[in-house]
Amino acid sequence: MQVKIKGTTKICGLFGYPVEHSFSPAMQNAAFSSLLLDFVYVPFTVAPGDLAQAVRAVRALNLVGVNVTVPHKEKVLPFLDELTPEAQLTGAVNTIVHIEGRLVGHNTDGAGFLRALREEAGFSPAGKNVLVLGAGGAARAVAVALAGAGAQEISIANRTAQRAQELARELNERTPAKARAIFWSARHLGEVLGNVQLIVQTTPVGMTPGREQCPSFPFHCLGREHLVCDLIYNPPMTKFLERAREAGAAVSSGLGMLLHQGALAFELWTGKNAPLEVMRRALLEQLQER
Ligand code: NAP
Repeated sequence: MQVKIKGTTKICGLFGYPVEHSFSPAMQNAAFSSLLLDFVYVPFTVAPGDLAQAVRAVRALNLVGVNVTVPHKEKVLPFLDELTPEAQLTGAVNTIVHIEGRLVGHNTDGAGFLRALREEAGFSPAGKNVLVLGAGGAARAVAVALAGAGAQEISIANRTAQRAQELARELNERTPAKARAIFWSARHLGEVLGNVQLIVQTTPVGMTPGREQCPSFPFHCLGREHLVCDLIYNPPMTKFLERAREAGAAVSSGLGMLLHQGALAFELWTGKNAPLEVMRRALLEQLQER
């Protein structure tokens, strides 16, 4: 359904560089249309040097809010008036809400991941042990959210070991979870898997156009007792998830996190419950088209 733009239409958007690949415009505009909301969602290409001006424009143009994506999620913090505790802990913002001249930075990635865990995979992290592969922005959002949701022990393996150590140190200092960095080797990962219930793959390895690639992992150590999530949503079934499923683990794709982080942003901007099935259909259509 086409969004009708009128003099009263409220504008949301996306700041990123690039933004052409994003599924969010299709997902958010489908949601606005289905609830007959007078809103539109527009992608804005914001080059790194233009971020401060672009954020000022949110006020000047009276936008309702914007999503923020790569490479601006961390750099946008100093330009905002207020941060939610999640955004502060994560050190990254993916959603800005404009309230009467004040810009509030939220991070719905972590909460979106938790909602996807609960609603798509029926999994509760409370009291569970988790292995996170990767230590970038998405890993940080997921680890902070899992710690907040009561995960007991969080092990982090990353290509650059130092980043895993830093993330583990911050989690230990600032959350109730017990975190540690481990080496990314078949032996170390295999040892941890005996005492872990949830594995979250957060690196971009296996993402289209590199969909034949797969992070090295001791798949033979997986079984029915494990839930394996990949944050990649294109393709929805990565090689990593395929091999985990073959080994007997339950699997969950990054499409759920994409859907729920977008649904939370929608709810912040409109104050309405997000039409999840409409948004999911829009995402699946985008996947088919590409
Ligand atoms: P990022 O901040 O750049 O972090 C990338 C992480 O992946 C780092 O830990 C990096 O390790 C590791 N990595 C990159 N290339 C690698 C390779 N060839 N081998 C091993 N490790 C590698 O990126 P991000 O923002 O966290 O995003 C990561 C992924 O999450 C992307 O696929 C993104 O699409 C996905 N994501 C999905 C959602 C969703 O809604 N489903 C939301 C956010 C992000 P080093 O530290 O060694 O560089």
